[in-house]
Amino acid sequence: MEFWATKMPEGMLLRSPRVASSLSDPDRAFTLEAYEAASKMEPLAPVPLDTFVEYGRWFRHQLGSDLDQRTVLRVDRDSPGFRVTLTDGEEIRVKRVVVAAGVGPFRKKPEVFQNLSPQQAIHCYEGRDVRKFAGKRIAVIGAGQSALESAALLHEAKAQVEIISRQPALRWIGQHAWLHHMGPITSMLYSSHDIGPLGISRLVAYPKLVSKIPLKLRDRIRTRAVRPAGSRWLPPRLADVKLTTERTVTQATTLGDEIVLKLDDGSERRVDHVYLGTGYRVDLSKYEFLPQELTRDVEQFDGYPKLAGGFQSSVPGLHFIGATAARSFGPLLYFVAGTEFACRELTPHLARNLR
Ligand SMILES: Cc1cc2nc3c(=O)[nH]c(=O)nc-3n(C[C@H](O)[C@H](O)[C@H](O)COP(=O)(O)OP(=O)(O)OC[C@H]3O[C@@H](n4cnc5c(N)ncnc54)[C@H](O)[C@@H]3O)c2cc1C
Repeated sequence: MEFWATKMPEGMLLRSPRVASSLSDPDRAFTLEAYEAASKMEPLAPVPLDTFVEYGRWFRHQLGSDLDQRTVLRVDRDSPGFRVTLTDGEEIRVKRVVVAAGVGPFRKKPEVFQNLSPQQAIHCYEGRDVRKFAGKRIAVIGAGQSALESAALLHEAKAQVEIISRQPALRWIGQHAWLHHMGPITSMLYSSHDIGPLGISRLVAYPKLVSKIPLKLRDRIRTRAVRPAGSRWLPPRLADVKLTTERTVTQATTLGDEIVLKLDDGSERRVDHVYLGTGYRVDLSKYEFLPQELTRDVEQFDGYPKLAGGFQSSVPGLHFIGATAARSFGPLLYFVAGTEFACRELTPHLARNLR
């Protein structure tokens, strides 16, 4: 739960609906509902971050999971398998490696902000403590869930916030609410994961099928399913936040303690910090624990590994799950709801090979 517990902003709410926020276990015994019942908690929608983090820890406890919390420094090939070196120097020899290391190293810092220090330009991934920005002037760049929710949390923490977005208008998830309340017709149009618009939502619930679609079309489906948009519970919280749309920041410079932003309409903003809700770009070479000698043998689509059955890459025994698998199996793999498919696809493959 490191990502959720230490990176996501305090006070965050999950974007995924409750039914799509349970981790997968073989008997569906350890769902979010089971955790809430066991902890005598009132089920809330949307799901608060703290609840989800505690649910994850409870889940692990229920499984009696044997989790080694040391950091992996390096993975090397060591015929017939791999040598995994941990930060304390211990080396472990294994036949297979399943990489499930998340999106942290993939966060995007657009070129224009490269000269700003990490304290000046903060990616939403690192913006956990919004309260320390009370009274500060903050430009939030982007129009996806991270940008919009961070803007709401910063505003509520008494920062002076302006959202700057390239899009002509903000988009909200589930704008056609009535389509979600038509019983069996709704189930035909949307899967319960609620990833993507009508129709696409249904398709992406079948990652095996998605993997058979030609790459170009698969990419269009993926990008459409996760295009920048905010949850429906955000607009009232953003009502008093300044919004500038259809504008790009063309220059960001430092002047004393201030940051001067130039926009493509010639206007200027002076702020104390920039919050980057600029997303992530999967690029295997950014995983520092995977040396170049290994990643160069992994067939890729622009940074994403090409994966076959059991999430195996072109390097036998090296598997990738989570966001890195989304180019092969579709956008479901970006989300918690993808854990069920990931487990059902991966574990039989590993078990077969063990036998
Ligand atoms: C802003 C934001 C909001 C999101 N909201 C939602 C949401 O509402 N609902 C949803 O379903 N999904 C959401 N997601 C997607 C979310 O990232 C995934 O659902 C989920 O966290 C992916 O799980 P994971 O295990 O692949 O990666 P992570 O949860 O990121 O876990 C990666 C793990 O790998 C560990 N690790 C990394 N490197 C090493 C190393 N070298 N050695 C040892 N361990 C290592 C980390 O410590 C961490 O525990 C959101 C993502 C972002 C960025």
